[in-house]
Amino acid sequence: MTAPARAFAAVDHGAYISGAHVPPGADVVANIDPSTGAQIGHIADSDDRTVDAAVGSAADAFETSWGRLLPGEREAALHRFADLIESHAGELAQYDALEGGKPVSFVEAVDLPLAIEQFRYFAGWPTKLAGAVVPVDTPDSHVYTRRIPLGVVAAVTPWNFPLCQAAIKMAPALAAGNTVVLKPSELTSLSTLRLAELAIEAGLPPGTVNVVTGTGATSGHALVSHPQVAKISFTGSERVGRDLGALAGAALKHVSLELGGKNPNVVFADADIPKAAAAAATTAYFYSGQVCFSGSRLLVERPAVDEVLEVVQRHARTLVIGHGLDRASTMGPLASESHRDKVERYLDTVTGTGGRVAFGGSRIPGNGYFLEPAAVVDPGDSDAVVTDEIFGPVLVVQPFDSMEEVIRRANDSRYGLTGGVWTSDVRKAHAVAQRLQAGLVWVNTYADYNAAAPFGGFKNSGLGKDCGPEGIDKYLQTQTIWMSLS
Ligand code: NAD
Repeated sequence: MTAPARAFAAVDHGAYISGAHVPPGADVVANIDPSTGAQIGHIADSDDRTVDAAVGSAADAFETSWGRLLPGEREAALHRFADLIESHAGELAQYDALEGGKPVSFVEAVDLPLAIEQFRYFAGWPTKLAGAVVPVDTPDSHVYTRRIPLGVVAAVTPWNFPLCQAAIKMAPALAAGNTVVLKPSELTSLSTLRLAELAIEAGLPPGTVNVVTGTGATSGHALVSHPQVAKISFTGSERVGRDLGALAGAALKHVSLELGGKNPNVVFADADIPKAAAAAATTAYFYSGQVCFSGSRLLVERPAVDEVLEVVQRHARTLVIGHGLDRASTMGPLASESHRDKVERYLDTVTGTGGRVAFGGSRIPGNGYFLEPAAVVDPGDSDAVVTDEIFGPVLVVQPFDSMEEVIRRANDSRYGLTGGVWTSDVRKAHAVAQRLQAGLVWVNTYADYNAAAPFGGFKNSGLGKDCGPEGIDKYLQTQTIWMSLS
């Protein structure tokens, strides 16, 4: 780890409000390195007073500074922010590798470019947020609309993509003219805190970007229920998403929810099998399977099952399991001890229902929360390993015999985030892709992502989209001005 990153990580951190760090008080949470189980330091579990100060600072910046900037000024500031993230990429990647256990070389190659792209893409929007002149049947009337920001956005993020998720929320919210209070996961606070410092360095007025650290029950709850928060933008689990949706409904706040998935990746026997199988293995074990759009259910046409499984197992064997900060690592630990234990419990359920653990699933000796990549073959469709989002390196392989059967089984899920279809038959590709109940379907590829392409789930995978025009719409409201000319 570089010296500046080590120094920043070693400090016990609290909230970041109006461009200044707030020292932690008595209530703190231990910050753990999941690759070793060792304690890195502490972060504050921000209390009501701290959260109130953060929201107040954001409300003030909305009224007096950021909310009053001209579109071109917002655009320029977001580009400066993107440039600073780019020039600090090496340092920022180390925080997510240390706290989240993600291989640092992957964070640099995947997370950082995606975060920077969010700012560059949404920096283009402030100058294009035009309203419309409305043709009405009332004589001598001039009716027009304005697209205006909501106010203070509470942005609550998960631990699996800390830096990326902060960017995915901040970039469109700020481009629309809102101010933000971020609440990162208590497991991964450092990169979000550092981003807030960089926002100040980029010239965003103090209060435009604030961070409250801590647990969901304390700081998260205080933030989302604060009366001055106009919108809750949440990414995380289905369970918490439901609670926040109910809370937003009761308080009549705007809300968007990006939740979990149990995503069907469908491989037909006429596909390019080596390519499909390699992609299936990559998506299953990337970040130890702790990815909402992981292709965690692999449905394979029966004649291709053995070949696909062989490629997947070969890929699993080549993974270099190690510390997130080790440049040689290609797979890190699970994010916490309790999460590793939960993944293991799912593997323990694979008994006697026809399913079998084909390989992997053992703990790696040591204090880190490592598990070998695993595959479960042919479990029952209603087994927990098939229905639940395990969020670990556990690939479920489900053989199938016909197109109608695979569409039915792929859609037999309460989730609907993403899906994949692999076939050389273009008609079959479109037919299956269009019938999959998923917000994003990849055909003959998997896990491509771009700030311009809407991303978000159907069914219990959420409400609202990230990225693309829908990604900024959710941070805007329309005002109609009706003027009599008579
Ligand atoms: P989580 O729901 O446990 O926590 C997410 C965030 O919510 C954390 O910051 C947490 O502290 C906070 N929180 C928890 N309870 C809260 C409450 N009552 N009030 C306010 N905030 C509260 O999720 P996680 O374990 O951190 O992340 C994993 C989940 O995130 C998975 O289900 C994954 O699929 C999902 N995810 C979805 C997407 C997507 O784009 N759809 C992307 C990444 C992760």
